Amino acid sequence: MQEALSHIKQDKHQRILRIQSAALKAIHDYLYRQGVVQAMPIILSPATDPLNHPHFEAKVEYYGQKLHLTKSMILHKQLSLLNDGIDKIYFMSPNVRLEEGKLRESGRHLFEFTQVDIELKEKTKKEFFTLIDGMIAHVFRFVIDECSDDLKALDRKLSVPRLPLKVYESDELRKKHGEHFERVVSEKAKDPFWITNFRREFYDREDKERRGYFHNYDVIWPEGYGEALSGGEREWEHDEIVRKMKERQTDIRAYETYLEVAEKGLIPRTVGGGLGIERMVRFLSGQRHIRDVTLFPRVPGERIVF
Ligand code: AMP
Ligand code: MG
Repeated sequence: MQEALSHIKQDKHQRILRIQSAALKAIHDYLYRQGVVQAMPIILSPATDPLNHPHFEAKVEYYGQKLHLTKSMILHKQLSLLNDGIDKIYFMSPNVRLEEGKLRESGRHLFEFTQVDIELKEKTKKEFFTLIDGMIAHVFRFVIDECSDDLKALDRKLSVPRLPLKVYESDELRKKHGEHFERVVSEKAKDPFWITNFRREFYDREDKERRGYFHNYDVIWPEGYGEALSGGEREWEHDEIVRKMKERQTDIRAYETYLEVAEKGLIPRTVGGGLGIERMVRFLSGQRHIRDVTLFPRVPGERIVF
């Protein structure tokens, strides 16, 4: 029988961890220089991202209050920008998403992962694209410079992407490549790229003049690695938020405080997104499965060893 946790002794883990450390340092340095301030994440809250795809709820009860484990800090990010003196913020935010076991072999799902979750006040998606383009290029540059031995040992070749990263529209890609356009384009691409306009969560801004058009987006890693980041310009108007919650059959009662702020017209106008750290490290280090970049894997449907 295999010794428990013997995978931790594999040579590749020291290399992957050095690559991860370099990438994290590059992200923090870059965001600091851009004036994006860091706040600490929360893990338990009466309201979290509803997540518009199948998953099990993760809740605890504490002194009679039902608290969700954070699925994403989107709503907290928005409200943290209520402070007049803060217009750019980020969190290194651990997320728990108990997704279905059939995702086990996707190679890119963990039920615990971390995102660097960024939100900007009074900015547009174009300005967000520029910030993230710069962050990704800076991460690549720093990792290539600092980790050349580790990249070589992992047989991984990286080159700094050319900016600006390309931007595609989802409807156009769908017409050209069918329903699995993300995978098809990712497999052909050499550099990360953006795709805009997806119908998803209530908080992503839908165009009032052009219903069914959403001012949101993903960044996709190339070489078939798939999604890196999701985000959008956000809804701020109470009636729009409630209409979209109802459309998505969201339990409105759970969002009492958020809706109170919205009703007073106080939700800041923001744009942002979250980039998955483990998926980024998987790409940078060229690992097939996301489990291979974690010391203590949490793969959907799999028993946790430790
Ligand atoms: P989302 O806003 O739900 O797309 O999450 C933001 C980012 O977190 C995604 O673009 C991924 O990079 C990462 N992410 C989302 N779900 C998972 C997961 N189950 N396992 C690992 N990373 C994830
Ligand atoms: Mg996403």
